[in-house]
Amino acid sequence: MEKYHNVMETLVVNKLDEIWDTLDCCKCDKCRNDIIACTLNQMVPKYVVSHEGELYARLYLLSAEHEFEIVKAIANAIKMVSEHPKHYV
Ligand SMILES: [Zn+2]
Repeated sequence: MEKYHNVMETLVVNKLDEIWDTLDCCKCDKCRNDIIACTLNQMVPKYVVSHEGELYARLYLLSAEHEFEIVKAIANAIKMVSEHPKHYV
């Protein structure tokens, strides 16, 4: 069955996982989710409808294409979340 999917979401989560251990920020689940949401809000969503194999191939291309943009958005998001962490409430 085909379904729609925002590949940007996968790209951001993959990239964050890749650099997570090197980041100097709070590592709690709340902050992680805030960082992901905040990063995605800065990105243009990219919806595709495709089968799994196809999707995987496109992800590979897209991650190279958007790498810099994604890393920059993650850095912005970490700055914003670190300045206003919500994990205290
Ligand atoms: Zn936190």
